Amino acid sequence: MADYLICGGTGYVPEDGLTGAQLFSNGDGLTYNDFIILPGFIDFTADEVDLTSALTKKISLKAPLVSSPMDTVTESDMAIAMALCGGIGIIHHNCTPEYQANEVHKVKKYKQGFIRDPVVLSPNHSIGDVLRVKKEKGFCGIPVTENGKLGGKLLASSGVTLEEANSILEKSKKGKLPIVNEKQELVALIARTDLKKSRNYPSASKDENKQLLVGAAVGTREEDKQRLTLLAQAGVDVVLIDSSQGNSVYQIDMIRYIKQTYPDLQVIGGNVVTAAQAKNLIDAGVDGLRVGMGSGSICITQEVMAVGRPQGTAVYKVAEYARRFGVPVIADGGIQSVGHIIKALSLGASTVMMGSLLAGTTEAPGEYYFSDGVRLKKYRGMGSLEAMDRKDVKGGGAADRYFHSETDKLKVAQGVSGSIVDKGSVLRFLPYLQCGLRHGCQDIGARSLSILRSMMYSGELKFERRTQSAQVEGNVHGLFSYEKRLF
Ligand code: IMP
Repeated sequence: MADYLICGGTGYVPEDGLTGAQLFSNGDGLTYNDFIILPGFIDFTADEVDLTSALTKKISLKAPLVSSPMDTVTESDMAIAMALCGGIGIIHHNCTPEYQANEVHKVKKYKQGFIRDPVVLSPNHSIGDVLRVKKEKGFCGIPVTENGKLGGKLLASSGVTLEEANSILEKSKKGKLPIVNEKQELVALIARTDLKKSRNYPSASKDENKQLLVGAAVGTREEDKQRLTLLAQAGVDVVLIDSSQGNSVYQIDMIRYIKQTYPDLQVIGGNVVTAAQAKNLIDAGVDGLRVGMGSGSICITQEVMAVGRPQGTAVYKVAEYARRFGVPVIADGGIQSVGHIIKALSLGASTVMMGSLLAGTTEAPGEYYFSDGVRLKKYRGMGSLEAMDRKDVKGGGAADRYFHSETDKLKVAQGVSGSIVDKGSVLRFLPYLQCGLRHGCQDIGARSLSILRSMMYSGELKFERRTQSAQVEGNVHGLFSYEKRLF
């Protein structure tokens, strides 16, 4: 009798599948591909699934999606798009503190429909320059100012106040509307096409002043305290201490310093992959934990350092410990599909952090280029020699995540540099991820992410190990050719 579960009135249903605790009990390190979730019972529509989840003790998001603080993933454009869609972006710190704080500022001051850093030309530019912009960026409605910069005096049509701007553009037949201040200096631009595109973002992540939420990464050095000051002044909502092995005296000191100096600022610590690492950071006062070591797509940490942990196990073990202290966990790295996100959340993570999945989008930093006819963008590990070299870094960098001390004469790479195919805008991609998540939760029978987690901890959620051949079976197979379009 003990092995049987009573279900309805038709008799006994044998116990089937493994609980989370059973799945991770035998000491093997599992990745997302090594297991599958068994389906549950559906009595609600996918639309009803609530994706609200905690990023930190005090910040909750409508979508459990976070963009990674990497210099080919998150600057202000990405952070704005992430926040509009209900997630959050963490601005990287491979740049000067001033540059980073300005990126934070741009997110906090963002107003939908206003282009705050338009391409601007001066009277000295030629038609050839306009054509070059058209080729590179795809538009040619370019304001001309005295000095060729934003903030310079506008030499074209006169401007309007910000309040009037929207309605004027709507009524007029003009494609672009320049916004000037009382000195006739250009401060922003509104494009008619943006206005037409502009949608409502009811799930946008906002603070109490209705400004978008944004995070920023910092290191653990003395000079990072100055960086923190600028970030705090720019209105950053959460800081993330960026380290590949977070269980260090430097990080603990930094967490304590931030908590003492900026009690209202939320702090994410990491990275960790064991409960013992997590304990030290939780004791020091973190509001969230970033979990993952060696699982990133551009990562060679496990190969070079021989240290790390398969991501499924890392997420389960840390989340299972951290939840006792109310500290949410971010599953960071190794997310290749919407299914991986569902698996990370089903193992106890509250949010997921993505690098490669968001790289190559319009909002990721960097220009597109062509290679063999394919449109690409660069994507590189922050521990790649290229990123650590800092030569092409905006204003000089601070990539100390992998470069341990000033006395390290030789850099040991923990990441690679590569390219990723153009994926279009994240404003299209993120709704796809959310829709996929809702359908996954529906199949599982979880109306919300918090229900998903409690189903896992109560043992109601059932998993199964996947053999190599089961994994092959679970992917497309047996076709001569196929096209994989996701949405
Ligand atoms: P992805 O989503 O699989 O591409 O992984 C992104 C994550 O990889 C980031 O959020 C970091 O935690 C991690 N990461 C970034 N750069 C490096 C690196 O150079 N080496 C190892 N891990 C990295």
